This record gives sequence, structure tokens and C-alpha cells, in this order.
Amino acid sequence: MAQKVQGTEDLYGGYMRAWQRMQDVARELFGAYGFDMIETPAIEQVDTFVHGIGESTDVVRKEMFRVVSGALFSDLLALGDESRLKPRQRMAMRPEGTAGVVRAVVENNLVPQGAAPAKLWYAEAMFRGERPQKGRLRQFHQVGVEWLGASDPAADAECIIMLMEYFERLGFARESLRLVINSMGDAACRPAYREKVRAFIMDHADEMCEDCLERAQVNPLRAFDCKNDHCREVMAAAPLAPDNLCEECAAHYASVKRYLDAAGVAYVEDPTLVRGLDYYTRTVFEVEAVGAGVGAIGGGGRYDGLVELEGGKPTPGLGFAVGFERIALALAEQGVELGGEAPACVYVACTPGEVERAAAFDACRALRAAGVRTEADYQGRSLKGQFKQADKFGALLCVILGGNEVAAGVATLRDMVSHEQVEVPFGRLADEVLARLG
Ligand code: AMP
Repeated sequence: MAQKVQGTEDLYGGYMRAWQRMQDVARELFGAYGFDMIETPAIEQVDTFVHGIGESTDVVRKEMFRVVSGALFSDLLALGDESRLKPRQRMAMRPEGTAGVVRAVVENNLVPQGAAPAKLWYAEAMFRGERPQKGRLRQFHQVGVEWLGASDPAADAECIIMLMEYFERLGFARESLRLVINSMGDAACRPAYREKVRAFIMDHADEMCEDCLERAQVNPLRAFDCKNDHCREVMAAAPLAPDNLCEECAAHYASVKRYLDAAGVAYVEDPTLVRGLDYYTRTVFEVEAVGAGVGAIGGGGRYDGLVELEGGKPTPGLGFAVGFERIALALAEQGVELGGEAPACVYVACTPGEVERAAAFDACRALRAAGVRTEADYQGRSLKGQFKQADKFGALLCVILGGNEVAAGVATLRDMVSHEQVEVPFGRLADEVLARLG
């Protein structure tokens, strides 16, 4: 039997409805904040991610699924490495949404000089070659927003407020969420801070793991994220970002916190929160569903240098992404079924016979034209079998068409809950059904 790729999932039934619900809630809420939907290609040039996410990140170095056409694949094997491929021939599946959206904003000039910011949201599959486990997939789904052209700290706060409101609308109890924030500084203060952390790691070189020693060379801040307990213990004494902010960054961070306080949004400051990607500046944040055991369910931050890295004019930006699969797991843990019930339907049943079948065919058309989800029998079932099937579908109403009804130009309408039955003239069937469905 053919099998799906490890770490991927099929979305159908209630799980698919849950993913659709996440998109519906996003469309409504993010729309109220002025965000429009965007979809960028699932494949981009590798350089888009290298520039944006950072050469030294795990995502770029180890987790990107690289894409080659069949024809190029043989060349690649013959060449032995990809160095002779042109940049446009080096492609990867997107591991996250921001780099591609920022590339699209630059390429389509969506924030021209002097224009209002671009506010975009997406709902897309992402691809990372990680070791699959609970809440960690190789193809997963994110809803995210990118806000390009806004430098005001109110934008950072509004982004976070919108994110927390989104989680609430999906069904999370506010107390079950832990919002963690930090400021990582900017181009003015971060380089000096990075050097301090690098020097700290080198001073403790004999106590740190190989990976952290490598991180010290490429991106020392990542050592705060080390999975090794001992490295984390050592890093607890390392210099902290909020203590090393320049005046502007400190003022920006203080302002974000004031806005969050004014909106009554609770947060915890974690001076070691650095997030995995290179592009963040100033505000970073992450949200965890307490006790769900699935890790972060969403996170984001400001990335004021990213548009330039993707070849655009200096443009501030910020955004976040949340993971569908982890949210579904965390909500299930709290007893919330994100997908809800299957949609209600009406079942059209008929006795055997060509005339009755034709009447059922017409009834289905009339009900569907009125927007009613309508089911019927397509497998030659007896009337009793059709009633059973109507129950399986969870039909609220059943339209019954026997020889007598058809001859009289009426249909019997049966309420599947109260079992009450009424006769309805054929021409009024759709109106009557709509009225009863409320
Ligand atoms: P990140 O950009 O890595 O912070 O990802 C944002 C969100 O996407 C996370 O908070 C998770 O909810 C989700 N996520 C990231 N990686 C995975 C993965 N491999 N499988 C499932 N969800 C993921």
C-alpha cells in the first residue's frame, strides 16, 4: 500500500474543518485590523531564505527541503555538488512564510516610498526536514501576518494584541496562554551585544558543547537556545539583551510594554528569548499553551533589516506565525474541538421507481439552489436503508417522496429529531426547509 511521507499528514473531515476554521477566524479578525491575504509560491530560490532567515540557522543549514527538477537531478549527481548551478536553479520548499512575503513585497513594490504600510496575512503549508514527533512535522501549516513599513511601537503591541485575541477566538482560555516577550536590540546595539555574548562563551569554552562553540563563531545568541541543559545553566550568567539596548531600542521596548499594559495583555519578560531566525530586531515574542506539551504555538517579532537583506529599500517590518497542528493539539488538550460538528444537511429519500427518482433529483436541485447542503441515495438503497443513511449523515430533515406524494405534487418533510411529519407542496419545499433549518 502506498504511504504518505514520514512527518506529513492528510487533512480531511474534522481536522480539515479545524484548519478552515483557523483561516475563517483569521480572515475576520485580521481583516478588522486591515490585513489582506497573500499567497506566495511554495518554492523560492534558496537565496531568498539564505538572505532572510540567515545562513547560520538550523532551518537553512539542515531543515530546508531542496527542490531540483528531474533533469537537473541527474546533472547534480554528475556534478557532485550544486556549486555550478545558477542561483535561479537552486530552489527550496518554504520553511517559513516571512522571507517569501518580504521577497514578494520587494519584487512587487508593495510599499512604495511614502505609501501606507503593507499589511498581509497568509495561511500556508510549510516544509522543514525535521525529525518528526508530536507537534513537529515535516509539512505543517501556519497562519501568519507580515506588516511592512510600520516602525511605531504601537504596531508591535497591536500585533501581539491581535495574536492573543486570535488565540482566544480559536477557543483558548486566556489563563492557559503564556506570552513571553523580549527585545533583541537593533543594528546599533546588537553587534556589540553579540560580541559580549561571544566573549562570554569563549571564556566558558571548556563548559560548552561543540554546537555552542560553533554558534559562538556564527551566531552566539543562539547559545541561549541550546538543548543541552549544562549549556543553558552556563548561559544563565551570560550578558542579557535588555541590559545592552541602545537608548532608542530601550525606549521602543518600554513603549511596547506600556501599550500591552494599557490593553490589559499579560506577558512575561524573558531576557533569553532569542528565537531561531537571524532576522529579528527589537521586539520578539512567543506564545505557549501551558501544560499542552507541544512547545510554542506561535511566535514572531520585528525585523527592521529584512527588507534590505531581500534587496529592497530600508523598510521596517514585523509579524508572527502560528502553527495549526500544535494549536489543534493544545486545544484538544483543553477539550475544545476546533473543527466543530460536521455541517447540518437534509436528506432526500424516495421509494423505488423512475418517477420518484426523478422527483428526488429535482428536489435535490431545488434545495441545493437554495444553499441547503443536501444528500440523497446513489447506491440503490431501499427506503429503510435510505433512512439509516440519513441518520449516518446526521440529517436534520428528511424529504420523503413516494408514489402518492409525487402524484399529488407534494413531499413529506420529516423532522429527524422530533419525528414530526408534514406534507409540503413541491413548489414550496425549499422555503419550508429553509424556515425549519432556521
Ligand atoms: P517558528 O517560525 O519556528 O517560530 O514557527 C512558528 C510556529 O509554527 C511555531 O510556534 C509552531 O506552532 C509552528 N511550527 C514550527 N515548526 C513546526 C513543525 N516542524 N511542525 C509543526 N509546527 C511547527
